[in-house]
Amino acid sequence: MKMPEKESLFSFTLEGLREELQSNGFAKFSADQIFNWLYKRWEMDLDKWSNVSAKIKKHLLENYDCTPPQVAWQAHSIDGTRKFLIAMSDKQTVEAVAIPAKDRLTLCVSSQVGCAIGCTFCHTGTMGLKRHLQAGEIIGQYVAVTLWLQQNVAPDERLTNIVFMGQGEPLHNFDNVKKACATFMEEKGLSISQRKITLSTSGLVPQIEKLWDFPPVNVAISLHAAHNDIRTELMPINKAYDLKRLFEALKQVPLKAHRRITYEYILIADLNDRIEDIEGLSALLTQKESKVNLIPFNEYPESKFKRPSNAKIAWFQNELWERGYVCTVRTTKGDDILAACGQLKSMEDRLNLWNSDVIEV
Ligand code: SAH
Ligand code: SF4
Repeated sequence: MKMPEKESLFSFTLEGLREELQSNGFAKFSADQIFNWLYKRWEMDLDKWSNVSAKIKKHLLENYDCTPPQVAWQAHSIDGTRKFLIAMSDKQTVEAVAIPAKDRLTLCVSSQVGCAIGCTFCHTGTMGLKRHLQAGEIIGQYVAVTLWLQQNVAPDERLTNIVFMGQGEPLHNFDNVKKACATFMEEKGLSISQRKITLSTSGLVPQIEKLWDFPPVNVAISLHAAHNDIRTELMPINKAYDLKRLFEALKQVPLKAHRRITYEYILIADLNDRIEDIEGLSALLTQKESKVNLIPFNEYPESKFKRPSNAKIAWFQNELWERGYVCTVRTTKGDDILAACGQLKSMEDRLNLWNSDVIEV
């Protein structure tokens, strides 16, 4: 996996930047000033950092990539969702989606270019893993989208929530995602509360067992099936870590710190939308406080699965409701711009949009 030549400046946690400066003979409090310029004032031009010494700026420019990733393409859906294709310094691109709701603006970020897990319903899964993202390339998605919104929508536009539900399996890139979460939460920087960050995982058991050593953000588990045979068909990772092992590992997650575990369940017609699946779910999810998020399958041109009818989706939700579960249906956002996971990237591949200028559809 070839990574960019230089580490991104945005990869540093505040503590990490203090240490970096100190070990190179600089005053470590400059790190706090740099965080203020980057994440409070949104000033990306080092020349404008009036209280940071020229020597420090020279040192940073020589050793790190100080330019945030760039918005290569964006599309605006009629429901308000905005999809961005973000280009890294080595021209690799990932997607990020800004999803507005009543009192928040959530950014769905990618953690890897592609994904190694290979779920059969997911377009990203068919791409394979190209590389991990650096912590600074995850933070960089937030920075790039914020700058774009400030320039194109409103000067004080701010993203309030983060979900790791773009391309990639965040726990496969554990250390970089952990660092990015620390920077998202840094009070002297972006200052996003842990309650407003959600990490979604396909169920990498060894990394779930390491979550005690991770900022206490919310966790979403991509369950998608309540029976091992169906889950293995959808998610090859179930061969290595089946439902029994997954739920054993989840019992270890410090729930007091990790405020909430949500279960995500993609509904696919005639595959996992039957009464046996409801019974399987209620056998698995014994805690009545379990929250289930139903996601109607988003069809894409080459997909072999189908989305159930609206009546079937409502029936499934109701059956879970009657069994005492908190259960929501994720309304499909940005349908008209193919905003589901991995789908913009595929469209980009098909139309070779990389060569065109930023366009709006
Ligand atoms: N890799 C992690 C992180 C998010 S994956 C995980 O699997 O949990 C991207 C998200 O998009 C997941 O919630 C996944 O369930 C959803 N997704 C992928 N393909 C989809 C499709 N065709 N229709 C609906 N949701 C899809
Ligand atoms: Fe990877 Fe998540 Fe897609 Fe599965 S659903 S292939 S884990 S991005």
